[in-house]
Amino acid sequence: MKPRTKLEKRIMAYEMPKLNEKEKEWLLQFPYYQGSQSHKTITCQECLTKTKVSYYYGQSKFLVDQIYFCPGCGKELKIEHVSNAFITCYLNKAFLHYIDEFVVLRFFRVHKYYGKERIPTFNILEVEQHWYSLKNRLVILSLSKNCFGNYTFDSKLSIKNLSRYNFYYLNDLPAEYLYPGYTVKSFLKQRGFNKKFYESKISNFVRRLINEWQIEVLLKNKAHLFLKYFFKKSSITPFFRQVQLAIKHKYIIKESELELWFDYLEMLKKLEKDLHSPKYLFPENIKEAHDKALKALNKKDAEYELSLIEDDIHIAYQTKMAKLKDLTIIEEREGLVYQILPLWTIKDVQQEGIIMDHCVFQSGYYKKKDSLLFTFLVNGTSMETIEVDKAKRSLLQHHGYDNKDTPFGPVLKEMVYKYMDAICNCFKKVSKKKKVFA
Ligand SMILES: [Zn+2]
Repeated sequence: MKPRTKLEKRIMAYEMPKLNEKEKEWLLQFPYYQGSQSHKTITCQECLTKTKVSYYYGQSKFLVDQIYFCPGCGKELKIEHVSNAFITCYLNKAFLHYIDEFVVLRFFRVHKYYGKERIPTFNILEVEQHWYSLKNRLVILSLSKNCFGNYTFDSKLSIKNLSRYNFYYLNDLPAEYLYPGYTVKSFLKQRGFNKKFYESKISNFVRRLINEWQIEVLLKNKAHLFLKYFFKKSSITPFFRQVQLAIKHKYIIKESELELWFDYLEMLKKLEKDLHSPKYLFPENIKEAHDKALKALNKKDAEYELSLIEDDIHIAYQTKMAKLKDLTIIEEREGLVYQILPLWTIKDVQQEGIIMDHCVFQSGYYKKKDSLLFTFLVNGTSMETIEVDKAKRSLLQHHGYDNKDTPFGPVLKEMVYKYMDAICNCFKKVSKKKKVFA
């Protein structure tokens, strides 16, 4: 895009400062020097010193990816298996400059050419410039890129249209690739930047510092943990007020529990608790408070589900089950007490479903006209849930925790059929005739 606005024309007209010798030297530093190995010879790609290596039976033949010190130049080499005469690798590095009101990040690409018999040579190319200011936010200059996001190296730096810019392809680098000899000035200083990037990439950091006032607040409060956390996320939390309160109250949260704490705040909000009260916000034990809130929330959800069922369905179920009120099914066998207990209300059915972690409630068996629901207890603990069809006089299903079978299946079956008549008799219509003559 050609510069159109006054600002763009102004930016394009600047003559950029030339890199000094020290800066250039830094640009050419790669994380390690290369050495290559073919069979028993290691070649230093820096000074081309050749060394014979001996290896023993059982030892790895190649030293590829290992560190080796060149006896010629003394440099630490990373060994690559090089058979080509010509190799290229590259590195991106950045500089921070101040030009008028702008903070400018300049990105360079350094190509290194080396090979079997070649002393390395370099090519340095400026590939992007990011111009930041509080007023104008961001202007990007970049070489042209193809559809894969690769630079076209014979193009020139030109203004990019940000509304159509693919930020995915933005050249951004971790802080260790920024030239360390810069000073903190301009809005970076005003907003509390302290040369720490909190694991954010460089350009991303400056962009968020301009656009999100919360970052400035955290920087000035030295809230390192929160900064690291928010730079990992793509945006600041809606609970920033609570973060500020935590800072004010010097509430100490472990890094490993931050996520849990925000989850907890989310639940407090759903439970309609006071989100400004230190009593709720700053529990001594986050994990415990989190689990407690989760339970309360599950209970609230359960009540909501229950409230969705129409009243006449509740009444119909309760009336049906109430007919079993005079029935007692309890037996002691070999020291164990077995009991079959009706689930009197739909709420009981729901509780059973929660405890047993199965879908007796969600499946809506309570709506079926002839279904009777029971729980089967062993020594007072629910072991299985039972559905009996009173019209067919049959045991339709019985399931334990998580719909699994339990070892009590045979006893349960035997007891259900033993008492089937007693159960069904509760529903026998007493004929009017009989009543009159009784
Ligand atoms: Zn060497």
